[in-house]
Amino acid sequence: MQAPLLLTPGPLVTSALTKSAMQHDWGSWDSDFNALTARVGQRLLAIIDGADNYTCVPMQGSGTFAVEAAIGSLLPQSGKLLVLANGAYGLRMAQLTRQIGRQVMVADFGETSPVDPAVLRRYLEADESITHVGVIHCETSTGILNPIEAIAGETASLGRKLIIDSMSAFGALPLSARNLPFEAVIGSSNKCLEGVPGMGFVLVRTEALEQAEGRSHSLSLDLYAQWRYMQKTGQWRYTPPTHVVAAFDSAIAQYEAEGGQPARLARYRANCETLIAGLKDIGLASFLPAEIQAPIIVTVHAPKHPAWNFNEFYQRVKARGVILYPGKLTAVETFRVGCIGAIDSSDMRRGLAAIAAVLDEMGMRQ
Ligand SMILES: *Cc1c(COP(=O)(O)O)cnc(C)c1O
Repeated sequence: MQAPLLLTPGPLVTSALTKSAMQHDWGSWDSDFNALTARVGQRLLAIIDGADNYTCVPMQGSGTFAVEAAIGSLLPQSGKLLVLANGAYGLRMAQLTRQIGRQVMVADFGETSPVDPAVLRRYLEADESITHVGVIHCETSTGILNPIEAIAGETASLGRKLIIDSMSAFGALPLSARNLPFEAVIGSSNKCLEGVPGMGFVLVRTEALEQAEGRSHSLSLDLYAQWRYMQKTGQWRYTPPTHVVAAFDSAIAQYEAEGGQPARLARYRANCETLIAGLKDIGLASFLPAEIQAPIIVTVHAPKHPAWNFNEFYQRVKARGVILYPGKLTAVETFRVGCIGAIDSSDMRRGLAAIAAVLDEMGMRQ
C-alpha cells in the first residue's frame, strides 16, 4: 500500500528517518533515554532563544494535555485568564480553564478575524483582576494568523502575563523570547516539527515555574511536579512515550539540518502558495484573505452545488491516496487542507490533482 499523503494539521506525514527512529526500544529508567529527553528539551528551548530564562517541561499526551497542564499550573487559584478567541482552540482553552475551576473571561473575535490588540488593551484596562492572557498563535480551526507581537506587547505593557498556544505554528513561525515577552509557549510533537503524536511541551519562564508548586488541579497534569521529578531523576514522572521522544529527537535534528525555522517556513509557504494557486485553477476559493492566512492550514469554500457532501468527497479523494480535513466553521460549508508535514510543492500538486479529479467525477467542477 502506498503511504497516504496527509494534508492535515497533524498527525502529519513524517520522514522515513523519523519513522526509523522508532525501531529501538528504550527503557524509561535508562540513562541513554534520559539523555534523549534532556536533548529534546534543550533543542526546543534553542528554537525560542530561551536557554537562559526558560525551562522545557514535556508532557505525555496530545497537545491539549499540555495546554491543560500549563493553565492549571501557571494560573494561580486567585488568577483570572482572559482568552483571546477566534476559533475552536481558543474556545477550548477557555473551556478547560472553566472546567478546572479557574476564573476565565473570553474576548471573542468571531471565526473570521484576527485578534485585535486594541480590543485586548480595552479588556485589560477595564478589568484589573485579569492576571493572564491566553492566545492561539495560529488558530488551526481556520488558519488565521494572530498578531502575536502586538498581543505580547500590549499584554506586557499592562503588566499581565501571556500564555501562547503555538501548537500549530511552533517551529515554523518565528517566536523568540529575545524580542517577545511571554510567560509560556505550548507546542506538541506532531505539528510543524514533524514528529509523531504522543507528547506536548511547555516552554515556561523558569521563575514562573518555580512559583507553581501545589497549584495544579491534577496529579498527572502537574507541570511543577513533572519538572521537579525530572530535575531530581532525569526521568519523566510517569511512563514516557519513549518511541515518540526518540522520533521527536530525530525530527528536530532534521529540522536543524534543513535550516531551522526560516527554512521550515519557506517550505510551508511554498506549499501554501502552490495550494492556493492550484485551488483557484480548479475553481475553488480559499476562505481567508491572504494577509491573515498563516501558511499552516487553508480553509477552502466547498463547491456551491446542491449535492455537495464532504464525506463522499473525502472518501473519493482518500481512494486516490490523499487525506483531507473537514471544515470547522459554523456558518459556511468548507473543508481544510494542511500545508505542514514532511511534504513539498510536488506533494501539494499531487493533492490538487486528486481534488480536481474527484470534483470532475462528482460533476462539481466549477
Ligand atoms: C493541534 C492543536 C492543539 C492540540 O490538539 P490535540 O488534538 O490535543 O493535539 C491545540 N491548539 C492548537 C492551536 C492546535 O492546532
